[in-house]
This record gives sequence, structure tokens and C-alpha cells, in this order.
Amino acid sequence: MFGTKEHLRAEGGHLLIDGVDVVEIAEEFGTPLYVTSEERLRENVRRYREAFPDAWIFFAVKANGNLALLRVLAEEGMGADVFSAGELSLVRMAGMPMEKILFNGNSKRTEELELAVEAGVRVSADSKDELLALSEVACEMGEEAEVAFRVNPDVSAKTHPKIATGLKTAKFGIPWQEIVDVYKTAMSLDGVRPVGLHCHIGSQILETSPFVEAMAKMMDLAEKVVEIGGKIEMMDFGGGLGIAYTPETKAPTPADLASGILPVFKAGCQKLGISPRMILEPGRSIVADTTLFLTKVNVVKRAHVNFVGVDAGFNLLARPMLYDAYHHAVVANKADGAPEEKYTIVGPICESGDILAKDRTLPKVERGDIVAMLDAGAYGFSMASVYNGQPRCPEVLVNDGRGELIRRGEDRSVFLSGQIVPPRLLK
Ligand SMILES: *Cc1c(COP(=O)(O)O)cnc(C)c1O
Repeated sequence: MFGTKEHLRAEGGHLLIDGVDVVEIAEEFGTPLYVTSEERLRENVRRYREAFPDAWIFFAVKANGNLALLRVLAEEGMGADVFSAGELSLVRMAGMPMEKILFNGNSKRTEELELAVEAGVRVSADSKDELLALSEVACEMGEEAEVAFRVNPDVSAKTHPKIATGLKTAKFGIPWQEIVDVYKTAMSLDGVRPVGLHCHIGSQILETSPFVEAMAKMMDLAEKVVEIGGKIEMMDFGGGLGIAYTPETKAPTPADLASGILPVFKAGCQKLGISPRMILEPGRSIVADTTLFLTKVNVVKRAHVNFVGVDAGFNLLARPMLYDAYHHAVVANKADGAPEEKYTIVGPICESGDILAKDRTLPKVERGDIVAMLDAGAYGFSMASVYNGQPRCPEVLVNDGRGELIRRGEDRSVFLSGQIVPPRLLK
């Protein structure tokens, strides 16, 4: 029923995650709620490690910044791709080794560069301007920063335009034609030590061919860098592997990715006589399918379509609104019920676009039912907001047959936090 998602099954009419009844979890912790399978998370990392035994696997923290999950990933040997000072502090707290962190970002503040240098993490420079700034910062601090270069390889990732990052029109990276020049500059600067190349062509990519194309371009660039006497100690190929959001989708596995890119990598390295560390930066394919997003039905309204109003919308799961993304919906307390009617599942936010799922054929839905949105672990909670007076919900980790709270839900005090009403307005 759930394809390759072995951590999910239906039993006695209820949806189970790692054998734990989702309806009971909703009762215990309340809704809305994010629920993650620890076992699945560990398994997803292991699939990468088996496919790429010599590579370092960095987790893209923007996909999910929960500290307990980052701890699990640290235990499994992962490093991280961070995009801000905030994400850097999270992975430090999670105990990830600084050697296994890459500080990314297309527009870093001076304070962020300082923090990266002070922490001793590698920086991926997104422009020549940033390289110069990094050199200046490191010199002032009397340090030397390892720097890699984010390449814009001009490769089409065949994905949603908002998550295609490797096209020449995207804001990310240094145009590939300019990489050698920037590398040469870096070799002549104090305070920086150029160590390699980095790319990330996009997200939710369901074919391996764009990765192979990017890899080939990266190896060509590595050759040019080696020709000018540059050292290539690491090559980071980013993340982007897609997952099967719909039951019909066939997503490539880490093993499929490995059989596409490893031969090109190995042949390139052999030809150039170099042995750089390979780095990958998966986010979605590590964490998306580990997590359910649970909501409770407030109302069923028969209008021009059957609307199911649940207790959270794009405030807590923004992907459908942002990217027209599909998340499979299951009525968790009627998990093996026969599909009866078509429903459109909507949230409580005051926007017409607040739709979680359109035209889904489900068992008869009633007030009080629990709707589980599948594959919500990536870009789910991490994109949540408090828009429209909705506090953010708790998160629960399922392990060893029970759920543990890993983030408390917010209360209404979140709306007061940091607000200042000048005394003159209080008269
Ligand atoms: C977002 C991002 C990733 C992760 O992408 P996924 O599609 O979630 O695997 C990796 N690297 C960089 C630089 C990113 O911006």
C-alpha cells in the first residue's frame, strides 16, 4: 500500500508508523503534529553510505533543522551543508565535526564569514566578491580559511523552476567559464586556501542524467584547475535526489545515483592523477519520507467541491502552496477504508491558496478524523511560519515502539515575543 515506505502500514483500520498507531500519537500529543521515524532516518543515511562508501555525506540542514534529528544524523556519521550562522550553530550543537561542514550561501554577511573562519569550517564561495571578502576577514583574524567554489554548471535539472539551481539564469554560483580565473585569484590571496569545487543543480530531481551531466562538467573544470597548478582536495556534487511523493512516481535510489556518477568521477580522477574527497549534500532524500504531518478535520463542507477543513495549512506545510507540490493524504483512522468520494483538503489560513491536497479520493471524511500527509520531513517544519496567528506545532520522534516529544508546540506568547509597544501608545 505504501510502496517502498516500509515504515508505514495500515492495521486494524489505522495508519501505523514503525508499528506505532498514528491515531494514538495524535491523541497523546495533539494536532497538528509532525511525526518522524528514527529507524527510517537512520536507514536513509545508510543507503547513501552503502552506495558511496568513500564519500562524505553532508545533510542539507535547510530541509530539517530539528536538533534531535541532527543528533541522529551526527551519530550516523553525517556532516552538514549550512546556509547561515543559525544553521551552523545548530549543527555545532548537534555535535557534527567542523571538518564535515560546508558553509554555503549566495549572500553571506561579514559576521557569517567571521563565524565560519573562527569555527574552522570550509566556506563555499559563491562569487569572486565573496572570495575577496573572505580573504580580508581571515587575514584580519590571522587565520587561513579553506575555500571551495560554488560552480554554476549551466545544467538543466528537469525539475520545478523554483528549485532548479544549476541553470545559468539562477542566482547561485560562479559561471563555470570563470571558475579557473577565480581559482587563480584565490591561489594568490592571503588568508584563503582553495581546496576544491562545489555544485548543486537543484532539488527533487527524478532522473540521474542531469547529475551525470553536471559531474562531467565538474571533472572538466577540475582538469582546468589542475592545469594551472591548483589543488583539488574535495569535490562536492550537492544534493537534489528526488523522492516518490506520488504512489506512481519511480524515484532513483542513492545506488542508482552512484552507478551514474561514480564511474565518471573515478575515470576523471584517474586521468588527472588526483584523489579528492567526494562530498554529497542530500536533504530531501534523507528526511522527506521519514515524517508524517498529522492534522485533524474541523469541518467537511459540501460546496462546488467537497472541502475538508483541517487544523493546519500552508503555515505548517508550505510546499503545496509554494511549489504546487503533491503530498499523499491518508485518513489515519480509516487507513484501509475503501475510497468513496473526492475531497479537497484545506487549512485554516485566510488565503484561497491554502490548499494541502486537491481532488483526492478518500474514504468518507468526517469531523474529528485524522488526516496524515506523507513525506513531510523535508521542507516541512523548517519552512513553517506563525502567519495568521497560528503558533508552530510540536514534533515527535518515534523510536522503539513509542513517540517522544522532540519539539514543544508554541503557545500564543510567540506573537508577543520581541514586540515593543512604545509607552506613548499605552496612554
Ligand atoms: C538545498 C540544498 C541541498 C539539498 O537539496 P535536496 O534537494 O534537499 O537534496 C544541497 N546543497 C545545497 C547547496 C542546497 O542549497
